[in-house]
Amino acid sequence: MRSHGGPKKGASPENALQRLFNGCTDCDICRFLMDESCLLFPEIYRRYDEALERRRAPDADALRDLTERCTLCGLCPCPDVRANMIRAKADRVQDEGLEPGARALSDLQTFGRLGRTVPKLVNLLFSTPLARRFLAKVFDVHPERSLPPLAAEDFFRWAARRGLDRKPTPREGTRRVAYFTGCTAAYLFPEVARAVATVLGQAGVALYVPPQQCCGMPTVVEGDMARSLRRIRANVAVLTGLADEGFDIVCSCPTCGYFLKVILKENACLSTGCMEAGAHAGPSPSSYGASSLADDAFAALDPKERIVLSQRVFDVGEYLARLHAEGRFRPVFRPLSGRWVYYAPCHQREQGIGTPYLGMLQNIPGLNLEPVGSSTDCCGMGGSLGYKKAFHEASLQLGASLMEKIRKAAPEAIVTDCLSCRLQFRFVLGLPVYHPVEVLCAFGSRA
Ligand code: SF4
Ligand code: SF4
Repeated sequence: MRSHGGPKKGASPENALQRLFNGCTDCDICRFLMDESCLLFPEIYRRYDEALERRRAPDADALRDLTERCTLCGLCPCPDVRANMIRAKADRVQDEGLEPGARALSDLQTFGRLGRTVPKLVNLLFSTPLARRFLAKVFDVHPERSLPPLAAEDFFRWAARRGLDRKPTPREGTRRVAYFTGCTAAYLFPEVARAVATVLGQAGVALYVPPQQCCGMPTVVEGDMARSLRRIRANVAVLTGLADEGFDIVCSCPTCGYFLKVILKENACLSTGCMEAGAHAGPSPSSYGASSLADDAFAALDPKERIVLSQRVFDVGEYLARLHAEGRFRPVFRPLSGRWVYYAPCHQREQGIGTPYLGMLQNIPGLNLEPVGSSTDCCGMGGSLGYKKAFHEASLQLGASLMEKIRKAAPEAIVTDCLSCRLQFRFVLGLPVYHPVEVLCAFGSRA
């Protein structure tokens, strides 16, 4: 995937993708993505071979089409690829605007908040099949999919009723933890967030549900960078402030965790801002001036805050495993008879934390829980992308290998951390799906 010549000047998707071509060192490590869970790589290689043959770089339309193929699953080994895809998506939206359907589907936060202000109207819209069909048409949702309803009471309201929106003082706990809930658990599956609050309470931490916005991933995937940056800025300000006060920050959503821990941090140390501030001990800023790694789409944020935040965010399972190792969390399980499978989703795998829940849940007497899926399997949902008419078939194609493995295992239920995977598994396989923390909450109690 080597260079076809220098990038053109200006911000356009073809420039970001051209930088991707130019930055590639042809190491070939990503070749596995040709046959695995990525729609972009096979097409990018095909375009590259075609360009070599014709001795002409891919045209603007072809390069623009490539931007829509990346779900930011994180499987690619090269951070440069993700950084350039994020920029290419953002440039495309800057040039052409964002389709109303994509804008709406990537913005659960707005609907969730609207549900608090005018609950009757929103719940009517989301609860009657006819109204849901109308919304699906407006949002350009594939006719075979149906949008999930909003929960009757969102998690933030539940947490406020229990005083969890009040920041605990240092005297109220040696372990003060801020829970970054994420929109899907907050507005669609608050039972997952309630289970997190219960289990962390059992583990003896002082829990706080701080003011928060969408993590930014769904809007970044759609290239809506202005909206993303507004929300990310607000989150970074709140969360780094809490980290300074000694709070640990936990996420139950693998995508929020991946975004805050990996995507935001990736390349932060190479940004001009970081090197000018002397936070990078490597080469001078000019060495990276022309690099596609410098000044990524998040360069407007303070690079030091991006790095600090990534170090203070933990997946809930990762955090519970730490508490377990310290002897602070030793659940005693009630028996549960069943043959279930556990799937570690892409964004959890890419955090490099292993499978912290699996060992815990395998201690449940009577439960036969086996891992399913390889390190390159993906459910194909891509957040909310699977709902889109234009992405529905691709979404099923991406998830086909994993679905086949699950069918072969013939489980009675699936356990997975990702709520987008939950939506896809329910749609494709029709099986019950649980977040591991729900199982911990339902079948474990404090020793
Ligand atoms: S891993 Fe990165 S550098 Fe290596 S071939 Fe793939 S894109 Fe190029
Ligand atoms: S993030 Fe996922 S979809 Fe995007 S290029 Fe990498 S492997 Fe492909």
